[in-house]
Amino acid sequence: MTSVTPDVPKHQKAKALKPGSRRPAKELCSECGLCDTYYIHYVKEACAFLNQQIAELEAIAHGRSRDLDNEDEWYFGVSQNMMAARRIEPIPGAQWTGIVSTIACEMLERGLVEGVVCVQNSPDDRFQPMPVIARTPEEVLAARVNKPTLSPNLSILEQVERSGMKRLLAIGVGCQIQALRAVQAELGLEKLYVLGTPCVDNVTREGLQKFLETTSQSPDTVVHYEFMQDFRVHFKHEDGSIEKVPFFGLNTKKLKDVFAPSCLSCFDYVNSLADLVVGYMGAPFGWQWIVVRNDTGREMLDLVRPLLETQAVSSSGDRRQAVQQSIPAYEKGVTLPMWAAKLMGVVIERIGPKGLEYARFSIDSHFTRNYLYVRRTHPEKLDDHVPEFAKRIVGQYQLPDS
Ligand SMILES: Cc1cc2nc3c(=O)[nH]c(=O)nc-3n(C[C@H](O)[C@H](O)[C@H](O)COP(=O)(O)OP(=O)(O)OC[C@H]3O[C@@H](n4cnc5c(N)ncnc54)[C@H](O)[C@@H]3O)c2cc1C
Repeated sequence: MTSVTPDVPKHQKAKALKPGSRRPAKELCSECGLCDTYYIHYVKEACAFLNQQIAELEAIAHGRSRDLDNEDEWYFGVSQNMMAARRIEPIPGAQWTGIVSTIACEMLERGLVEGVVCVQNSPDDRFQPMPVIARTPEEVLAARVNKPTLSPNLSILEQVERSGMKRLLAIGVGCQIQALRAVQAELGLEKLYVLGTPCVDNVTREGLQKFLETTSQSPDTVVHYEFMQDFRVHFKHEDGSIEKVPFFGLNTKKLKDVFAPSCLSCFDYVNSLADLVVGYMGAPFGWQWIVVRNDTGREMLDLVRPLLETQAVSSSGDRRQAVQQSIPAYEKGVTLPMWAAKLMGVVIERIGPKGLEYARFSIDSHFTRNYLYVRRTHPEKLDDHVPEFAKRIVGQYQLPDS
């Protein structure tokens, strides 16, 4: 029998359980991986779906929570600045131009960190996530491109603590980062860098299969996909061809239950707690969108500046009417015939919201949908679970009564 000395942290006494065997958030679990480790000890406070605490954690991570008098901060969170950027020489096979992988490689090469939490894919399935602690640039590059599935990135947290690592970079999406921030002080690190991506509408591996089969003409050859700023889903296939399907032509009825309940209840699209966020939705087509939240984020971005071209963010159009109209259409599961969807896609691409206004369009559409989902499925959680900034965003629209 092992005896536990009094100075062993409490969480290390938690019993090791079979991965996936305990899910305190039940159907709202986003499989972030925390509960596959002894950090399950902190789950009640740490889980994004059991204890929404974005404002409190923002204050710890960035020195302040977002300014609710500033509409830009409702949307994009605490930020020092935003920009559009792209690698001058994109990394082949990256999701976009590979800015995320580039930053991680630079940090390892310069010895700023000893390891990088990221997610490769399993050897036999390109979309099956396999979280790792990468210790070389090659291992980071093997994690490039999105695994568009719920990924238990935090399942490697015990390995981090046991390795004795003191300087770590974690790459992840909002729900993973919220739990990570909540247990950060327990990891024994001297410095944690957090590089986040926005995230929305994630799925289980089975859900992904259904999405691909319902939406793509060649589901087995899809290498990656993205919901693009031109209001189309772009599927990239093995032979390099791009298949484009207009958002408005998606089979809403069939796809309604494909997204994970955690994602339908999420209000942290823009990864509020990362030091630096790299996405695409606030940038012109083909560019990546960067949000620097604090000095640590600026330090990370500065490492790769010479490899990037950048431009200021811009914003045009007005999203509000399109969002308002989409609310009842989504609720009723309306699907347009493909010719009408294509036509609508062309029109909206020409006159619709662009740049930051496109990002607001996407945030508004998802937050109103998610607010209605939580109200319908977990009315008892609605008030605490929806952060104040999200309530203000949703409050701009007329919602159906029940
Ligand atoms: C599920 C998902 C949904 C997204 N939705 C949006 C969106 O709606 N709007 C937007 O602007 N941006 C979104 N992004 C971010 C965007 O697609 C790109 O990932 C980002 O711009 C970085 O591109 P890159 O070429 O620099 O990344 P790369 O250099 O290709 O690196 C990608 C990194 O993402 C990490 N990663 C891959 N899959 C996952 C996962 N499932 N969970 C956690 N980490 C993962 C890998 O570890 C890798 O380090 C999403 C990302 C994910 C993972």
